[in-house]
Amino acid sequence: MNILVINAGSSSLKYQLFDMDNETVLAKGLCERIGIDGHLKHTPNNGKPVFNEDIALPDHAVAIQAVIDKLTSAEYGVVSAMSEIDAVGHRVVHGGEHFAQSTLITDEVMKAIEDCIPLAPLHNPANITGIEACTKVIGNVPQVAVFDTAFHQSMPSKAYTYAVPHKYYDEYKVRRYGFHGTSHRYVTDRAAALLGKPVEDVNIITCHMGNGSSICAVKGGKSVDTSMGFTPIAGLPMGTRCGDLDVSVMEFIMKKDGLDIDAMMKVLNKESGVLGISGTSSDFRDLDMAAEKGDKRAALALDVFTYSVAKTVGAYAVALGKVDAIVFTAGIGENSASVRKAIADQLGVLGVAIDDEKNKVRGEEVDISAADAKVKAFIIPTNEELVLARDTKEIASK
Ligand code: AMP
Repeated sequence: MNILVINAGSSSLKYQLFDMDNETVLAKGLCERIGIDGHLKHTPNNGKPVFNEDIALPDHAVAIQAVIDKLTSAEYGVVSAMSEIDAVGHRVVHGGEHFAQSTLITDEVMKAIEDCIPLAPLHNPANITGIEACTKVIGNVPQVAVFDTAFHQSMPSKAYTYAVPHKYYDEYKVRRYGFHGTSHRYVTDRAAALLGKPVEDVNIITCHMGNGSSICAVKGGKSVDTSMGFTPIAGLPMGTRCGDLDVSVMEFIMKKDGLDIDAMMKVLNKESGVLGISGTSSDFRDLDMAAEKGDKRAALALDVFTYSVAKTVGAYAVALGKVDAIVFTAGIGENSASVRKAIADQLGVLGVAIDDEKNKVRGEEVDISAADAKVKAFIIPTNEELVLARDTKEIASK
């Protein structure tokens, strides 16, 4: 069974075609600058050449058609016809309270995804455009929606309720939702496998640390708390997002600098986080190098980030009562030995200890715990696309 997995943004579209008989990637690629001019990079995994050129992509339907053409072409293809694509899985950012699981896309489901647009005005419209483009080009192939928020729908009300008048929840559904759910779910399952136990029997704290970062407390395979909130700006300081903030800071800066709410939100989403603190970069590779050369603000940005991660892990140890393992994943979690070390060093109180030699590994699934650690520490490369493909296979096969 071949499954096409799609992650549609407002002007981009990432894809992977999986052969689910052996869970291998047949081809992957990226359409960029959709609606502007257009560029397609298509990488087949069967030895055929990479296609990497500017091509006109006036809208998402043209982009999907271009992807199908490449997947089925004699020169760059990996299948001989569109009929060899059995189902399509779409990443959808926000499922609100409607969706606690992935689901087959029907007219009713599309309506519910549209209803979630006010909760994710930048992301859900692009995801909907991707689904509609696929329907137009691929026709009657089953399509499945996989939501970033779904995994966190198991959170108890004490974890998702904000201390504001309850009418905002009742009327507008203002609450913590959490994101990165497919990643937290994937690494949780892998961590349970590495522990050699059923996921129902283990408690895990997953640290997804990339350009966007979030932490999740997972009890017996279910999310019970997570650091992102109503939107992805909450929780940890990130590449350019501020993370948790005393809301009065907004009022103070808006009055001082005469900013309106849109300008303020742009500062907090795009100019804050480790970029805001360091004044130089949102990329942890740059910050690591700068800090090593004595740049104090880069070092401060790293300290603020790792302290915030460690504090949140500590809070989630309370939420879980007992912790079997912590997991590091995503761009920073998989690659930065120094960030992992700095976090682990602050978690000695929980019994976390890592082995410096094992911690040198990058981008591999590995146990980096020290011999005397009471809580295991794992690096687990995340694989959100595989989760999409697995869910799509399961739902489309029913
Ligand atoms: P992601 O959003 O998961 O793709 O992660 C992207 C981020 O990972 C980048 O912005 C970097 O901050 C970080 N990153 C990637 N490679 C490394 C590395 N070798 N060392 C430190 N940070 C890294």
